[in-house]
Amino acid sequence: MPPLPAWPSSPLRRPLVALLALLVGAVACAVGAGPADAAKSARAATPDHPRYDVTLRADADGTHWKGRQQVSFRNASDQPLREVYLRLWGNGEDACGTPGSPSPVTVSRVRGGTASGLSVDCTALRITLPTALERGRRTAVSFDLSLTVPERNNRFGREGAFRFLGNALPVLAVHDATGWHLDPYVSTGESFYTLAGDFRVTLDHPSALQVPATGRTRTGPGTPGRTLTHSDAHRVRDFAWAAGPFRTATQTTPGGVRVRSYWSPDTPAEGVRLTRRDGAAAVDRFSTEYGSYPYGELDLVMTPRFGGGMEYPGLVLLGTEEEGSAVVHEVAHQWWYGIVGNDQYRAPWLDESFAQYANARFYGWDTRDCWAPDEWTDQDAALTSPMAYWTEHPGTYHLVYTAGSCALADLERTLGTATMARLLKRYAHDHWYGVSTTADFKKTAQSMTDKDLTSFWQTHRIR
Ligand SMILES: [Zn+2]
Repeated sequence: MPPLPAWPSSPLRRPLVALLALLVGAVACAVGAGPADAAKSARAATPDHPRYDVTLRADADGTHWKGRQQVSFRNASDQPLREVYLRLWGNGEDACGTPGSPSPVTVSRVRGGTASGLSVDCTALRITLPTALERGRRTAVSFDLSLTVPERNNRFGREGAFRFLGNALPVLAVHDATGWHLDPYVSTGESFYTLAGDFRVTLDHPSALQVPATGRTRTGPGTPGRTLTHSDAHRVRDFAWAAGPFRTATQTTPGGVRVRSYWSPDTPAEGVRLTRRDGAAAVDRFSTEYGSYPYGELDLVMTPRFGGGMEYPGLVLLGTEEEGSAVVHEVAHQWWYGIVGNDQYRAPWLDESFAQYANARFYGWDTRDCWAPDEWTDQDAALTSPMAYWTEHPGTYHLVYTAGSCALADLERTLGTATMARLLKRYAHDHWYGVSTTADFKKTAQSMTDKDLTSFWQTHRIR
């Protein structure tokens, strides 16, 4: 999610704009076998190791997509799995729609289970399994899927002839020791929480449309005038794509990542140049700092009026102005949210503060004294507060970006730069393709130093 309408590349504007950061609206395992693992597996996040097989066909301009989706999954918990929930996040803005304007995401002809009513404003669909799934067993559900891209400029929306299909594919909700995670959709920020899985997606579309997508994509001929875009994505939390008459360019970074850029013809050329340059540099730099980018390919999708940016595995949407875009922040999300997962509703700082700290370091911002205790007027507020808190206090959500990156910069000064670098690499390694929590991060940080970090956490409202 973006910190800014457009991310400045001018050194003079950086600190000022950082302080003025606005939230704009693109707007968000293994299981052991021994007795010692029993308690852990009873709490294990499930269903895990999902695999999504999707075939969709687009209409002439990529507004409507129809087809079939299958989701297979494993029960990682000791408790028999009797049901699963699909999250239909694409219905987040429109909820259940109106009689004349139904929800943009509809699921029908469910096989492999029995669908009951939609809940959570039509963003959750429960499917009861025919028999309880024991630990370690796999099964699958499948359904017809119909998507209508809404008429708003949004992560699931459009800009002119360009369609953005972020959060359009239904994904499995997570169940753990606290039960099912069925949090509400939020427009500002993200509610999304998924376990890493594999996607195999075939998109059948008019050949006039370019279709950037999560994963490694290849195209082949379809019926006359149509193209099949195939994508394979492994160990990702979500799958997004776009469609439109994009201009394109491909480069391979010195680190070996294929960066494919897509932009609408009205995107400022200088902004495209800066975004391509910084995006390529960022993916290599963060590979060095946090662990190699594992997906091989990264798509940068640029249009001039998209609000800020939005991260998906292997694909970022970027509002791009003359001065550039939020590409570095969004590329950092490939690690903080994507590779190192977190419950973005419960602990948004674990993705946003970390991405913005990476962004600040990339651009060399001066972060001394940027932690400002006066900004925290609510004594109950924590940097680590959930989206439920920020939704109630939308005027302070920017603190997750601004104060959050300052807190991590202060931690770097407390630990020393070399130790902070080792901490982030170890933390990423320990939770690679997994899920992290605030407690996990604090524990790893404390393990790196003889200093007692208790007062640091208190001062920086990391609870
Ligand atoms: Zn973000």
